[in-house]
Amino acid sequence: MEAPTEFPSVTFSDLATSSSAAPAAAVFSVDSSGKPRLRFVQTGSAAPLAELDLETTQVFRVGPADLLCVSEESGGNATDEKLCSKAFKVGFKTKDDSKGFATTFEEWKNGRSLKDGASLENGLIIPSKSKFDSKIEATSAKMYFHYYGQLLHQQNMLQDFVRTGTYYAAVLENKSDFEGRVVVDVGAGSGILSLFAAQAGAKHVYAVEASEMAEYAQKLISGNPSLGQRITVIKGKVEEVELPEKADILISEPMGTLLVNERMLESYIIARDRFLTPSGKMFPTLGRIHMAPFSDEYLYVEVANKALFWQQQNFFGVDLTPLHGSAFQGYFSQPVVDAFDPRLLVSPPTFHTLDFTRMKEEDLYELDIPLNFTATVGTRVHGLACWFDVLFNGSTVQRWLTTAPGSPTTHWYQLRCVLQQPLYVMAGQQITGRLHLVAHSAQSYTVYLTLSTKMWGVGAEQGGVLQTSTGKLELKEPYYRLSQPQSYAASDQQQQTVQTQSMPPQDISQLQDEIDPSLSLEQL
Ligand code: SAH
Repeated sequence: MEAPTEFPSVTFSDLATSSSAAPAAAVFSVDSSGKPRLRFVQTGSAAPLAELDLETTQVFRVGPADLLCVSEESGGNATDEKLCSKAFKVGFKTKDDSKGFATTFEEWKNGRSLKDGASLENGLIIPSKSKFDSKIEATSAKMYFHYYGQLLHQQNMLQDFVRTGTYYAAVLENKSDFEGRVVVDVGAGSGILSLFAAQAGAKHVYAVEASEMAEYAQKLISGNPSLGQRITVIKGKVEEVELPEKADILISEPMGTLLVNERMLESYIIARDRFLTPSGKMFPTLGRIHMAPFSDEYLYVEVANKALFWQQQNFFGVDLTPLHGSAFQGYFSQPVVDAFDPRLLVSPPTFHTLDFTRMKEEDLYELDIPLNFTATVGTRVHGLACWFDVLFNGSTVQRWLTTAPGSPTTHWYQLRCVLQQPLYVMAGQQITGRLHLVAHSAQSYTVYLTLSTKMWGVGAEQGGVLQTSTGKLELKEPYYRLSQPQSYAASDQQQQTVQTQSMPPQDISQLQDEIDPSLSLEQL
């Protein structure tokens, strides 16, 4: 039997008798029938002040260090089946003590350990929050799962032939990793990856999907009975659902823009810790964020010019210029999503690896990536270009899915962080800096970028930083440059002409390639 947990110095008052707060101890234990109970015992007395059945008791927060225990108990004698409520106010020395009590209460009530971050909401019944709920805002999660609950967005991903085709190849070329194995599909969506795993001979696939898409996945899977009989769809978050057995391999497509957007990689890691056997495999196995400085005069002018509107001094008689600075900053805080020509890169890229099989979920809360490049041309650097790839480290074939510029375009395209202040570099000059990504509760990241040029040429060893440029960008609010139809150029002709005249000759036709107005959240 579990050892009791005691809170030795609380204050206790019975609201029914309006008695004054008495010093007491609160003791959690299980009774002889295995039911969890909470007793309040007055200091120096053996008789309990109250004894509550945790199954019918709830805790509310009524002050920084005060809780209210409300217990519904039957009247006590067999003839009177009526329920009546009892309410007790429990006081603690500190807010932390009351939090600790509330967490312990939930642990004993649910008979299991609470995850980190479970918190009390003022005036609300304490829910035992999952890791997902405790770090993600409810409104963000609602919109997110609403989005993925729609078939058109699943279709958009399925139609990304590079993406879906690479998953298909990675699974079917590595049959030995699936044959006779238990598979968990983390965020199954339409169920496509579960069906691939079943095609590769999986013994059983658990397709876990939190959105309404789970119902469609069930329909699709039932409609493919030869494969579907080995697939079970489970609607719920991977942080919350329980599975009947451990998995030999996880399969998932948790990548967002810049790899980490949407914060679904964290769910993938949590699924690993909850469902995968210690020697199990992960498809994908690792991911890499690639980065290189770029030069794109055309893009820079385009972004800067968006704020020109606010330069007007007589807009229906109103001077708009007080807001020009804020608008200018606002446009530069949007990462640009499009497919660009790799010739715009100013140096060879570097990369940062995330090993999904080893990393901790917390490692994704903040990514701090040091940057160090050597420019191969003399030019103006306008910011940092980023893309990612993931590896399926199969036993038979190692396959990469890449979103690199110059490779066949995916629905993720590439991402560029444009700096308000461009940097001047010479060929051979060193560019250093930092890409700092900080996760937030709206399932995305704030991006802090710093790029500096170093002294160059003879005597450079003694020299320090020449020029530094910084930017703060919001990964959740990107600028989709792709959806800009070319015909708009005509209405904007005057501006465009000025811009293009001052542009270095570079192939911008690529930028207008692959225009796909049906954007997915993975780009969003
Ligand atoms: N596996 C599908 C869908 C990928 S999109 C495919 O490759 O086509 C990611 C899916 O994961 C979405 O359908 C989303 O609703 C789901 N998802 C995201 N976070 C989740 C979580 N924590 N638990 C369960 N499903 C999740």
